Amino acid sequence: MKRVYLDYAATSPTDPEVIKSMEPYFFEKFGNASSLHAYGQEAKKALEDSRHNVAEFLGAKPDEIIFSSGGTESDNNAIFGVAEALGDKGNHIITSKIEHHAISEPCAVLEKKGFKISYLGVDKQGIVSAEDVKKAITDKTILISIMHANNEIGTIQPIAEIGKIAKAKGVCFHSDAVQTAGHIPVDVNNLNVDLLSISGHKFYGPKGVGALFIRKGTRLGKFLQGGDQEKGRRASTHNIPGIVGLSKAIELCSKNMKKEAEFQIALRDRLIKEIPKKISDVMLNGHPTQRLPNNVNFSIKYIEGESILLSLDMLGIAVSTGSACTSSSLEPSHVLLAIGLDHETAHGSVRITMGRWTKESDIDYLLENLPKVVHKLRAMSPLYDKK
Ligand code: PLP
Repeated sequence: MKRVYLDYAATSPTDPEVIKSMEPYFFEKFGNASSLHAYGQEAKKALEDSRHNVAEFLGAKPDEIIFSSGGTESDNNAIFGVAEALGDKGNHIITSKIEHHAISEPCAVLEKKGFKISYLGVDKQGIVSAEDVKKAITDKTILISIMHANNEIGTIQPIAEIGKIAKAKGVCFHSDAVQTAGHIPVDVNNLNVDLLSISGHKFYGPKGVGALFIRKGTRLGKFLQGGDQEKGRRASTHNIPGIVGLSKAIELCSKNMKKEAEFQIALRDRLIKEIPKKISDVMLNGHPTQRLPNNVNFSIKYIEGESILLSLDMLGIAVSTGSACTSSSLEPSHVLLAIGLDHETAHGSVRITMGRWTKESDIDYLLENLPKVVHKLRAMSPLYDKK
């Protein structure tokens, strides 16, 4: 059976060149980067070279980068770390209603401990207003955390503008760039951020490795207790193969990002144009252009996203109904509710995300099969009958 993977926002395959770069660090060069002997120093060199690459890619300095176990840890570290370090200055955090759970759950934990969290709404296309951020700042605000692009609907936020406001008010600003790094330019100075999270497996690197940018001078509590790796900022033995892989993935993205984005935008825009021509009662979720190059999200009325997903899966096509983390839950996506969809419409949403190995013929295959699947499911749908 033909297999077509269109769920790159959930995770991407690890690029074979990345795998090759990691291999020596499992057996030949297995040392602990904290060891003083030659084995350790070999690992330490790979660690620092990787740090240098990641920093350069983000427009940061090497000592402003710490490695982590992925997007979730980087996000948790940013939220809990600022709360711990600046909790004596204030107890107010500003975030949005469409953040990934790696941000909203730590915020919920802090809320139980007495912090006040402002969850800003978004407009119909999923954009956070910089003006709303400005209005929400009080003299108790210690942190603003707004994601760079949303993982479900792909909307890209006005981070540079929000960053300018945060800077003027002297408030620490974090952005979750897990969906953007490697796909569109992410420069910590252009974006005016103090903290920024990235994750390797979203841009053809290995799973279980990420990084957190910490602007020099930003106060951050220690998230993991243990050894003094990363100059005491993140305990635990370095995952050298993962870190080397992350660095190689970044190198490949620096080389290919522009060309890949152009190609994906063409595929994306083809889907945005063709799907409504082939299927009635569909609606694009998110912004038509201010969105990730590889993301399309449609609500297809009168049927359930899960049924579409499973029917496409039987034809070898992998898509998603929301973020990977919420797709096993029956609750409608908080992102789709935040852009104003009713529960029924939110339940009928499908996310299609492309990547490095997506071909034009994959999109042909989807465009050939999605209308058939929708037609079949609607024929069985009591909601469609009543229409
Ligand atoms: N933030 C966003 C926007 C994401 O899309 C994800 C993963 O889906 C994460 C954070 C969590 O990243 P990780 O899987 O590396 O922990």
